[in-house]
Amino acid sequence: MFILESAAQLEKAIIKARKQRATVKFISFGVYAVSGSKGNFYTVKCERGTRGERIVSCACKAGQSVKPLVCFHSAAALSLHVGLARQRQTA
Ligand SMILES: [Zn+2]
Repeated sequence: MFILESAAQLEKAIIKARKQRATVKFISFGVYAVSGSKGNFYTVKCERGTRGERIVSCACKAGQSVKPLVCFHSAAALSLHVGLARQRQTA
């Protein structure tokens, strides 16, 4: 789990997601399933904290580690989530 503070945090992970051709499946608003490198799927959750911070958690090993890591699953899910959130605001 990590708190997203800037888009710069995602840069490397987004490049990796593109290389891996990660597939993002919409489960519900804020919950996505992203394909891993072995064709398995990981659940990524994007939530708002009490102070409005963006909290992202991924079920993969990197996402579970003590050090907050931005895995490519999170980056792939976030790119979809941000688009959906924008649509909701304008709808
Ligand atoms: Zn992950």
